[in-house]
Amino acid sequence: MPVGLGFDIHRLVENRPLLLGGVKIPHSRGLLGHSDGDVALHAVIDALLGAAGLGDIGDRFPDGDATLKGIDSAKMVAAVLADLKRWTVVNVDVTLVAEEPKLGPRKGAIAKRISELLGGVPVNLKAKTAEGLGPLGHGEAIACLAVAELAPRKGTRRARS
Ligand code: MG
Repeated sequence: MPVGLGFDIHRLVENRPLLLGGVKIPHSRGLLGHSDGDVALHAVIDALLGAAGLGDIGDRFPDGDATLKGIDSAKMVAAVLADLKRWTVVNVDVTLVAEEPKLGPRKGAIAKRISELLGGVPVNLKAKTAEGLGPLGHGEAIACLAVAELAPRKGTRRARS
């Protein structure tokens, strides 16, 4: 089964909402980005694209595209799911790295929303701090890693090598 790895990091700044996995998290700062800055969904998108051999999020949604400014990352997920065509998502595992806010109490809600956006596939979500180390540990940014596993959609033949 093809597996893809995704990583993303966004800077935390004033006067932005904080969206993680499509869930609005109450916090004094939010993630800077051309889109809504949802670092978790971006990592998931790169994991999906990677597993399907479809390049990366920057190819699919170029920074210079003015129509993507402020775009809801949930819409980006929907577009990538449509790109997968002969693949179906089997499993997604996500690790958020944030010193603040504390995400432990939000893990269930974020995992549930990512799962919904992916059509109900199992999503496991872990939240870690960076132990006070570096820019992540100083609360300057939030990062996310994701792994996705795909399987051939029923009724499609697996390509033979
Ligand atoms: Mg991003």
